[in-house]
Amino acid sequence: MSQRDQQKLFECLVERESERLKRRILHADRAGDDRWRQISFLYRVADGFSRRVFAGSFCHTEMSWTAGCSTGRCCKCRPDVFAYEKQVLDLLPKRIDDSGFCPFFNLAKRTCGVYGVRPFACRIYYNFAAAGYYCQNPNDATMQVFDGVKRHLERILGPYAGGYLP
Ligand code: SF4
Ligand code: SF4
Repeated sequence: MSQRDQQKLFECLVERESERLKRRILHADRAGDDRWRQISFLYRVADGFSRRVFAGSFCHTEMSWTAGCSTGRCCKCRPDVFAYEKQVLDLLPKRIDDSGFCPFFNLAKRTCGVYGVRPFACRIYYNFAAAGYYCQNPNDATMQVFDGVKRHLERILGPYAGGYLP
């Protein structure tokens, strides 16, 4: 199969998984009436999405599932957060500097310093193109995953609060 066909196939997988992600978020109340259960359900759903798309993404070439990404370029940003996530992150120790990296990125280890409680947007962020350039400049496929679920997440995580600022 040519590289182009492989990329097409992968794009179909991402599209299918994005739809599945959206459907599961819409049914988050099946996890129970309790909001905390629903939040934990959302993060599990995001991690499931992540596991299924990882192998075909560019990230697969740059990172290991256990040690993280070797460059961490996508963490040179202010991560997208919802009101609930902002409240959680506000409580955690953070770095304040002018590196341009997320205040929770561990510059020495090149890993996320809040991995277990990282925002939903970080959990589903992957480079779905074929070059490192798109790590910091997400292509349409990457953008569409988050855009497709944003308003549904607000129901549980509270209003979208934009890029995190301490
Ligand atoms: S998007 Fe790029 S920088 Fe971010 S984890 Fe994937 S390969 Fe690494
Ligand atoms: S919260 Fe973690 S994964 Fe998200 S941008 Fe910051 S360091 Fe990266």
